[in-house]
Amino acid sequence: MIKEGWEAIIGMEIHAQLATETKIFCGCAVITGGEPNSNTCPVCLGLPGALPVLNRRVVDLGARAALALGLEVQETSIFARKNYFYPDLPKGYQISQYDRPFSANGTLTIMTSERDDQGRAVEWRPMTIRIERMHLEEDAGKNVHEGLPDVDKYSYVDLNRAGTPLGEIVTAPDFRTSWQAYDYVNHVRSALRWVGASDADMEKGNLRCEANVSVRKIGETAFRNKSELKNLNSVRFMQKAIEFEIARQTEAHEKGEPVNQETRLWDEKNQCTRVMRSKEDAHDYRYFPEPDLQPLTVSRDFIENVRKQMPELPDVMRDRFMSDYSLSFADATQMVSEQDLAAFYETAAKASGNPRVTANFLLTELQRELNNSGKAVADSPVAAQELAALIKTLDSGAINNNQAKEVLVEMFNSGKTAATVISEKGFEQVSDPAEIERIVNEVIAANEDQAAAFRGGNEKLFGFFVGQVMKASNGKANPKLVNQILKERL
Ligand code: ZN
Ligand code: MN
Repeated sequence: MIKEGWEAIIGMEIHAQLATETKIFCGCAVITGGEPNSNTCPVCLGLPGALPVLNRRVVDLGARAALALGLEVQETSIFARKNYFYPDLPKGYQISQYDRPFSANGTLTIMTSERDDQGRAVEWRPMTIRIERMHLEEDAGKNVHEGLPDVDKYSYVDLNRAGTPLGEIVTAPDFRTSWQAYDYVNHVRSALRWVGASDADMEKGNLRCEANVSVRKIGETAFRNKSELKNLNSVRFMQKAIEFEIARQTEAHEKGEPVNQETRLWDEKNQCTRVMRSKEDAHDYRYFPEPDLQPLTVSRDFIENVRKQMPELPDVMRDRFMSDYSLSFADATQMVSEQDLAAFYETAAKASGNPRVTANFLLTELQRELNNSGKAVADSPVAAQELAALIKTLDSGAINNNQAKEVLVEMFNSGKTAATVISEKGFEQVSDPAEIERIVNEVIAANEDQAAAFRGGNEKLFGFFVGQVMKASNGKANPKLVNQILKERL
């Protein structure tokens, strides 16, 4: 929450590692870990005279990522050298893109909500974000530090990661709250995973985000100094860092203290941001076109082909689930959180003919069993068609809701079909009208006083008779038929 009269201006940068098997400009495999510097060649070591060759797969996955984020893939883009010195960058420059990026002019609609004190969403609303660009570039290596600070500290360079392909996704400064930024990053993460462009796993470092945060008085048009938040290891840390920064800067401005343009880190232990370094300006990098690579040209046909091969995107699917299957926003969102879950649901919902009840059973009963056994939905012992068969049996009135839940657990544990479990448990209902009529007659005969009272106007007694018939049938009588026949007989 920001102080009255102030607003926060937040822009996001995300580096997503594209899920290729080999690096962007050489044939070295993309691996995590491994013996330091074992996974290198003259190109990614930056040896003099070694020439980069663009990996075609980077263009495929880059196009998927761009389209999934509402960006336009540019027919011509240009690789550029971004010059800076750092030990993990042996060439002295990073091959990136500058004024002609791979994709640009994106608009992306996300769902976002502020959160209450318990972290619960208050109200989900759509919000459209301008994504300025996603350019392609190579990752740098890693500096590894060993030893205690100030005591025999050693630093090493591991270049296994050097040359790994990245898409850098840059938004306009469109966010006004930390939760909007949080919901945006989650949206990007799931969209990239959905189309197979990136594993987008923040813990493994194959999705890294940075937030540019400044504040200003409402009504001001110019921007004040911003801080760039880096090394954010999770989306939640990022959200907390932004929240802290908003409060810190607002307070400093109000006290008349300076707010410097600088890079800051999130200190989770002390729940605050700390200065990492003062910000160098973009022109310090002396970008110029990479002389060793041709401009990248991508045909309209190629882009249309990629578009055709893309799966339906999660937010489109969520909206369709809400309109076609009458799912709530929360249920539909949960259903599209994973591609396998969404596919499982759609198969089961169509086969059962009852999408709402299918959703309830899938998201609560089946999901619980899956969680407890550590299984993914793709490995569910209960197939989508079998869940549908169970829901159909439930709908027919042959078993009740609690029995259906019990049957599902047994199906999960034994791998048996719904029909087998139902008959083994003896859950089949008595749906023979003659049999039910016989029981109804017996019950009425045994309770003549109540029957007379009911006929005299005490309608509450109907429930008593239903109970008696169910009891006499050991709970197996079909409740619909019991109601119907009781009404006739009484
Ligand atoms: Zn290499
Ligand atoms: Mn970058």
